[in-house]
Amino acid sequence: MTDEEIRGTIHKVALMNAVNHGGKAQAGAVMGKLLSEKPALKIRVKEISPHIEEIVKEVNKLSQDEQKKIVEKNWPEMLVRERIEEQKRMPKLPNVERYEHVVTRFSPNPDCAIHLGSARAIVLCDEYSRMYDGTFILRFEDTDPRLKRSALMFYDMIREDLEWLGCKPDKEYIQSDRMPIYYEFAEKLLKSGHAYVCICKTEEFKKLLLARKACPCRDLSPSKQLARWAKMLEGGFEEGEAVVRVKTDLNHPNPAVRDWPALRIIDPEKHPHPRVGSRYRVWPLYNWAAGIDDHLMSISHIIRGKEHLTNQVRQEFMYRHFGWCYPEAIHYGRLKITGAYLSKSKILAGMREGMFTGWDDPRLATFAALRRRGIQPEAIRRMIIDVGPKKEDVTLSWENLYSYNRKLIDPTTNRYFFVREPIRLDVKGITQESLMAKIPLHPDHHERGYRTFKIEPEKGRVSFHVSTSDRDLFRKGMVIRLMELFNVKIDKSGAKTLEATYHSHGYEEAKELDAPLIHWLPLATGVPCDVVMPDRSLAKGVAEQKCKELHTNDIVQFERFGFARIDAVNEAIVAYFAHR
Ligand SMILES: [Zn+2]
Repeated sequence: MTDEEIRGTIHKVALMNAVNHGGKAQAGAVMGKLLSEKPALKIRVKEISPHIEEIVKEVNKLSQDEQKKIVEKNWPEMLVRERIEEQKRMPKLPNVERYEHVVTRFSPNPDCAIHLGSARAIVLCDEYSRMYDGTFILRFEDTDPRLKRSALMFYDMIREDLEWLGCKPDKEYIQSDRMPIYYEFAEKLLKSGHAYVCICKTEEFKKLLLARKACPCRDLSPSKQLARWAKMLEGGFEEGEAVVRVKTDLNHPNPAVRDWPALRIIDPEKHPHPRVGSRYRVWPLYNWAAGIDDHLMSISHIIRGKEHLTNQVRQEFMYRHFGWCYPEAIHYGRLKITGAYLSKSKILAGMREGMFTGWDDPRLATFAALRRRGIQPEAIRRMIIDVGPKKEDVTLSWENLYSYNRKLIDPTTNRYFFVREPIRLDVKGITQESLMAKIPLHPDHHERGYRTFKIEPEKGRVSFHVSTSDRDLFRKGMVIRLMELFNVKIDKSGAKTLEATYHSHGYEEAKELDAPLIHWLPLATGVPCDVVMPDRSLAKGVAEQKCKELHTNDIVQFERFGFARIDAVNEAIVAYFAHR
C-alpha cells in the first residue's frame, strides 16, 4: 500500500470510529481496527502511528454532523456493516416486525445526577435504537414536586452525560410540559367509568383494598366523578383529600395492583415545581404519566430493570381501558457495582450534608465523577454491551470497569514519572562526567518522542527524589536500578535521606542481580503535583518537568503509580487518579 492509500484507509476508519463514539475518534481504537482490516500493516506500526494521531486530530475537529455526512457520502456501506457487527454482540429485540419503527426511551427523574447505575438503561436503549435505525427518546419524568423534586441543574447535567456517553437522544420530552395531556386522558377514563375520584381516608381505603372490597367512591356515576375531578383541579380539595384511581381487579393477588392511584394533589404553594412553578395542583403519578407517554410516543420496546415488572401489570389495565397495545417490555436484572455509591437518597443526603465536594467528587459513581477521573465513555459502553439485557442479576466491580478502560487508554497514554511523597537519595561514586536518560513517552511508540533527563554529577555525586513508598526496598547492601539510568548499591537508609553508591550502568547487570526497578527525578527538578485519589485523599508529590506541557483532560500514566487525568496545569499540577 502506498502512503496515500494508507492515509485514506486511516481517514475512513477514524471517521467511522468518531461517528460511533459521540464524535471523538481514539487513536488506539483506530489503530486496532486498521490492523484487523489490514493485518499486513502490522510490521509498519511505528511508521503509521504518527499518521493516525494526525488524522484523528483532524477528524475530531469536525462536528458530529460533518463526520456523519462524509461517511454517508463516501462509504454508506460502512454504516450498515458497523451496525451488523454490533447487532451480533447483543440479542435481538423481540417482535420488531410488529412495529413500524423501533422506539426506545430513557426516562430519568431529574432530581439527582445520574450515575453508573443508569448506564445499562441508557446504553441498551441507545444501542438498540441504532441497531434498528430507530429513535432514542430522552424523557424527563419530573412530576413529583413534593418528594422527588427535580432541580433545573440536573436536566442539563443529564443531557451532558448522555452526550458524553455517545448516546445523544433523537428526541427529548419533559413531562411537566405535558400536564394537559395527562388531564385529558384522566377525564376520558373517568367518563368511560374506568377510573374514579376517591376521597376516602388513606387508612380506610387501605383496609377495604386488602379485604378486596370496593370503596364508596368506586361505583359513583361518571358525571359525579367528573364533578369531583373539576373540584380537584379548581382547588376544592387539599393535599391528600382526593386521588384519581384506575379501576383494576379488586381480586388481583398483588394488592399493589388493585385500583392504583393515577393522579393526586400536591400543594402548589408549598411545593412549587422548578420549571412550571405553582401552575398545577394535580400531578400524575409515575404509572399514569409513563403509561400514557409510552403509548403517545410510540415506544415499541421498553427496556428497564425488573423492579418495574409490577408497573407493567398495573399499566396493562389502563392500556386495556384505552384499547391500546402494551409495548414490548424487556426487564433486565439488577446491575450491582460493588463499592460504588449508587443510592440516590444517600447521595442526595451526602450532598446536603457537605460530605461530597460536588457532583464530580471522585467517591461518587456519577458520570461527572467518572469523566473527571479519566474513565472513557467507550469503556462504559463496551462493558454494558457485554453484560447485555439478561434477566439475571449481575455484579460488577470497579476493577471490571477499570480493565475495559485500561484496554482503551493504555495504547494512547504517555508515560511520565511522578514521585509520590519524595525522599532524598544521594548517590556517590559516579564515574561518568555526564549522563543522559532518554525515555520514550510510550514504550511501544517511540515516534511520539522522549523525555530526557540530563545528569551532571559534581565530584561523582548526584541527588534524586525517590518515592517514600519504595523505602522498603532500600536495605543496606541491596542493589537497585534507577529506571533507564543506572544501578546503585544502598549504603544507608536514614529517616529523611537515603545514601547509595554507583554500582553499574546497564540493565543486564540489574537483571542478573534481580535488582528492583524504581522511578526517580533529579533533585530540584519537576513540578509539584497533587493526585486526587478515588477516596478523595491526596497523593502529594513531584511530577517530571515535561508534565508542564500537559493540558487539562490529557490522560497520562504515571509509571509505577497508575493512570490519571490531568485536571489543571498551573504552578502545580492537579490530576485525578483513574486506576492502576
Ligand atoms: Zn374512595
